Formats: sequence, structure tokens, C-alpha cells
Amino acid sequence: MTSDNETGKLQPFPWHLGVYDAHCHPTDTMSSISSLPEMKARILTVMATRTQDQELVAQTADKYGIKSGSIGSTPNSWGKEERMIPCFGWHPWFSHQMFDKDTYGDRDTLDEEAKISHYQLVLSPKHDDLSREERRLFASLPDPRPFSQFLKQTKSYLERYPLALVGEIGLDRSFRIPEVRPPESENNRDGSLTPGGREGRKLSPYRVQILHQKKLFKAQLNLAGEMQRAVSIHGVQAHGLVFETLQETWKGHEKQVLSKRQKKKQAENSNPVAEIEDKDGKKQNSPKPFPPRICLHSYSGNPEAFKQYLNPAIPAEIYASFSTAINLSDRHDAAASTALECLIKTVPDDRLLVESDLHTAGPQMDDHLEDMVRRLCEIKGWNLNEGVERLGRNWKRFVFGNRG
Ligand SMILES: [Zn+2]
Repeated sequence: MTSDNETGKLQPFPWHLGVYDAHCHPTDTMSSISSLPEMKARILTVMATRTQDQELVAQTADKYGIKSGSIGSTPNSWGKEERMIPCFGWHPWFSHQMFDKDTYGDRDTLDEEAKISHYQLVLSPKHDDLSREERRLFASLPDPRPFSQFLKQTKSYLERYPLALVGEIGLDRSFRIPEVRPPESENNRDGSLTPGGREGRKLSPYRVQILHQKKLFKAQLNLAGEMQRAVSIHGVQAHGLVFETLQETWKGHEKQVLSKRQKKKQAENSNPVAEIEDKDGKKQNSPKPFPPRICLHSYSGNPEAFKQYLNPAIPAEIYASFSTAINLSDRHDAAASTALECLIKTVPDDRLLVESDLHTAGPQMDDHLEDMVRRLCEIKGWNLNEGVERLGRNWKRFVFGNRG
């Protein structure tokens, strides 16, 4: 941490103004959930990623969710037990565990041969002749599920939790799928962790085909649009394709941006029209194929790539959130620090969010958030109170939209 006054002492952190974690995974360590009411952070935005955590996020929302109808404007207007916003989605790291209707019709399960050929289809590198080793690996991976079933389940969660968002979803070109743990080591695993995560397992050489990932990503974007919920997006080594996929969802819905001449003409005709017009006009909150608000979580693209999102014709509100865990992991590298600074300056003041991306709730999560908020304020030239208030307003706008 850096000091923000001359004595070298840190200014006290204004937790009382409300600090909101825009992206985290505390249900990966369920024993940490009971610490939510004691946390300094006011509200956590809790992601679901895979089979094992969807229902855990729902249960956490039953206990600690913000009750709809109490969307307060100050941190104190929520009860002490109202600590989180649930999010439901399928993470790209688990995308291979889904099969899709186009290939397999309305089947609920795949038999062993179909399972192996599914994995052969969606994983790369591809080999026409499966080695015995590959057959063994593919057969040992989880039984794939129909994606249509998952979408239905997600929709019903979104209906059950009117404030829930869609996340974590996205595209990742760099991850490789972990190998399956041998049965004899199953007893040695850390029982406090929610199953299905990596847990230090060795990585196989296999990645999930990006077009398969894209299919799942796009369907979830469409669902978020249909339900008019914001999304939290993971993009790693796929910034271009994330943008293209989003662009496909809002194609034909772009806002009409008036040129200077058009504006002048309008002024002459004394016709008071908004500078930017939404072609969908008054039908706000009606189903659309794209999400109304989008958070690029732990955004790692370069400023030039981010600038694409500043196009005023884009009909969705685009936010970027930053975490100590991901964005400051190489903070001692001067070039990386400068690049991050430049990126954060590119993000408009009202579109910046903070997140921990951590897998355990509690003091460490608070520390990470404080660390990142101080850094964001420094870069943006905000004093701490101003910065915390701004980030809080941004989070409320991202999560609640115009209901906030
Ligand atoms: Zn995450």
C-alpha cells in the first residue's frame, strides 16, 4: 500500500460510506459465509460458476440477500443481514461439461461413447485417432449436461431472485482443464472447499474450443437480455472475441448518435430531442437480446481494446472492475503498473468498479478491497471519501439499473 499523506501514515478508510465488492466467490468456502454480517464491505456480488455452486449461491441469498423492495440509497438502509447479491451463470472453465441440443437433440445424458466423442469434439488439441490415454482421460471427466437444461435452471433462479444478475460467464483462451484426481487421493482433498474447483490439480494439455465457449457465452448474454439483468464477464486472451460476441447481441439495437450538424439542425427546428436516442425508445426494461449493463471483471485488456466500449452507439452500459488479486498481481513490475494506470484512466469515472475476486469471505476480502480502492483513488485523483462514494454509486447503478 502507498501512503496518501506526508507523515507516511495511511488515511483512515471510510468503510461507513459503503464499499461494494462487484465480483467474488465466497461460496467456494462455505464456512466463511457466516462472516458476511461482520465484514467491513457492505455488499458482495456473489458469482456462481459450475454445477456445485449454483444452489449454494441461492441458499446464501436466502439468508443474506438484499430483499427486493429494500433497494436503499445509503449503506445503512439495509439490514445487518442483507449482505449480498446472487449471480447465476456458467464459467468458461467448465464449458466443456455442457453439450448442446444442435449436436445431441433433447437427450438428458450421454452414454460412455457419446461422452468421449463430446469431449473429443469440444476439446483441443484434436486427434482423429484417440489414444488409449485420451479415452481414459475423457471417460474420467464429469458426465456432460445438456446446456438447455442449465439455461432453464438459471432462468428459474433469476425469476426466484429478482435482484440476481448473470455471472460469471465469458471466454478464456488460456486455461487448460485439470486432470481428474485419482480415486485414492479423493480422501485427501480439503473438505472445506466446494468441490469442482481446481484445488491444485495437475493441468491436462486440453483447452476448450473457443467456438463452443462462445455458444454458451452468447446464450447466457441473451438470457440476461431477456430477463433485463446485468452480467459479470470473464475475458482472458479473448478480448476481441468478447467484444465481437457482445456486438452480435446488440446488432440492430445500436443507439442513434447525432452528428454536430444534425444537432445544430435540431436546435434550429427547436425540437428538443435527446443527444443520443435509443431506437427502442420508451420500451425500457423490456426483453432484448443483450444485457442492459455489463461488467468486464478484472479487466486485463489494453486501453485501446477498452476504447471500443466507449462508442456512444453501444446500447448497454459498460463497466470495468479491478481486483488486487488479478490486476495487481504483478504490481512490482513498473511497466505493468503504468499499463494498469493508463487503463484505469481510460475507464470513465462513472463506470469504474472494485472487486476482490476472492474465494473466501472475511477480513482478507476487506483488505483486498481497501487496497484496490486506495489505488483507484490515487490513479483517478479522488480523495478517499469521494472515491468510495463514487464507486458505491457506480455499483448501485450497475446492479440495480434505474431501480437504484
Ligand atoms: Zn471470478
